[in-house]
Amino acid sequence: MYCVKCGVELQKGAQKCPLCGLPVYHPEIIEPADPPPYPPRVHESETVSRSGLMFILTVVFAVPLLVCLLIDFRLNGGIGWSGYVAGGLLFGYVSFCLPFWFRRPNPVIFYPCALASLLLLTLYVCLKTGGDWFLPFAFPIGGAVILFGETIIALLRYTVGARRHRQLYILGGAVMGLGALCVLIEFLIKVAFSVPMRWWSLYPLVAAILVGGMLLVIAICPPLRRSLHKKFFI
Ligand SMILES: [Zn+2]
Repeated sequence: MYCVKCGVELQKGAQKCPLCGLPVYHPEIIEPADPPPYPPRVHESETVSRSGLMFILTVVFAVPLLVCLLIDFRLNGGIGWSGYVAGGLLFGYVSFCLPFWFRRPNPVIFYPCALASLLLLTLYVCLKTGGDWFLPFAFPIGGAVILFGETIIALLRYTVGARRHRQLYILGGAVMGLGALCVLIEFLIKVAFSVPMRWWSLYPLVAAILVGGMLLVIAICPPLRRSLHKKFFI
């Protein structure tokens, strides 16, 4: 190897020419890379097996359920109070355990499952206590909450994508929808229990329209969005 500037023969591995000081560069000599300034990435493996953990949690829910049913059956010869315990435990299991059997639980699927199990529990309580409020009251409210929440979750999950400001439109609509839900609840209370309308639901409705409208204005107006983003990092 010779220096390209002065022609002096260079030693192997020389960094620069000993005569003229020209830095040596040879494309065929690959210099070893410096060690990175940070430790190598360690892929942490799952030390706890997911299905094992879920199995234990399932047992934690199942054992008290069975024990309560057995005790109730032995003492009272039927299923009385233990039915409520069992329903509550099943609702807790469907809401907080069932989704985690899956690696990426999809709320679009598990949200209605959880609420449907809660609705079933209220149906059980209603039948057990001899009430007649399930069909005119609990069922329409539960159905409305399931449909409303499911719409919001599905919109947030499938339409936002990279355009994050769409969240604002959805949230604005969701807040207004919650206000409307309050009016529906008051109306159903009136129908189911023959209580006169006092229109208390108008207060949350007005507040929801104001807050939801504000979110929509922010969503519609890009300069406002940018300035809010700069000031509050949202
Ligand atoms: Zn040289």
